[in-house]
Amino acid sequence: MKQTGDLALMKKINKSIVMERIRHESPTSRARIAEKTGLTKATVSSLVAELISSDLVEEIGAGQSRGGRKPMLLLFNCSAGFAIGIDLGTDEITSILTDLNGRIVSESTVRSDNTNVDTAISALKACIGDLIKQAPISRYGVIGIGVGIPGFSDEQGNILFAPNLGWENIGLQAILEAEFAIPVVIENEANVGAVGEKRFGSSQAAASLVYVSIGAGIGTGIMLKEELYRGAFGYSGEMGHISIHHDGKPCRCGNLGCWELYASEHALIQEARAVYRDPTLDLDTLLKYAQAKETKALQLFTQHGRYLGIGIVNIINSLNPDRIIIGGRLALAEPWLVASMIEVVNKRSLPYPRAHLSIQFSTLGSKATVLGACSIAISRFFSSTKVWVE
Ligand SMILES: [Zn+2]
Repeated sequence: MKQTGDLALMKKINKSIVMERIRHESPTSRARIAEKTGLTKATVSSLVAELISSDLVEEIGAGQSRGGRKPMLLLFNCSAGFAIGIDLGTDEITSILTDLNGRIVSESTVRSDNTNVDTAISALKACIGDLIKQAPISRYGVIGIGVGIPGFSDEQGNILFAPNLGWENIGLQAILEAEFAIPVVIENEANVGAVGEKRFGSSQAAASLVYVSIGAGIGTGIMLKEELYRGAFGYSGEMGHISIHHDGKPCRCGNLGCWELYASEHALIQEARAVYRDPTLDLDTLLKYAQAKETKALQLFTQHGRYLGIGIVNIINSLNPDRIIIGGRLALAEPWLVASMIEVVNKRSLPYPRAHLSIQFSTLGSKATVLGACSIAISRFFSSTKVWVE
């Protein structure tokens, strides 16, 4: 009996390995998969046949021959299912529906006061319901929902604490799974952003990257050697609460002089409202002022770039990543932030950790989080044993 169990497990693992090759190297061939995985051609052929009958793989005709019969190319059928990715912000919800390759089929952003749990959950359900209705008919339907949240969650998808939302101990995964009967994964938004950048952004080649998510606060998603680093208990990445002023402004975290009190989008807007004596001024207006080369706006961004730089120096010196990505809406201000930020980084970080580093503003913009959330939901689907047991 035991041996049968082991063989069945071995087959599942091999099938999953073959599937991963086809997902990431499509189009490919049976011979190439055998060559890369070390599995025999007969094993690959039999597993591919099962994947074709599961509608996850399709044949797309003959490819180039390297001598002998032309190989039949295999393509990942990315329309076999769809995923939903959500970015739960403080005052809006962005949601997308993608195919299994992360290609966006539908997207929406709605305003919502998410500091009220009931309002937020109703709005989330409405957004998800809409996207499910829009999903094209497919073999597996909507295979998962990923939700990026500005806070901590546990492995059961309970939001333990989300300070900017004011949420504590909300079982969001259970609530959404009960409503839709679809697997839900809850993850910190900066972690999700790091995954989005790694999978879909300009950082696919970076093995160790830090995604700095700038919004109401600052969160960081850390990916070391291709893996998301969550810390011993899942609470890593709170670099927004590194002190950059030993006796600075008091933070609600209990510390003084936290980086996010100076370098978040919220901090910039507070400062700009004081400078312009305009309590309603927002980021879009400030960007327009900067585009018009208004001195006060340019000075504000220059100072903000310095604050960003100081925190980034701490990241470089402590983690030595090969890529740092600055994300969130503030990435739109790159032209006015970048010079002072880089000046501080070059002046104040240690030369060896900085040597091969590249710092970039996100090209995915606010989509890094939703795309990352879809990617995590899709990865769960493919790592779930259910898929491999027919
Ligand atoms: Zn703090």
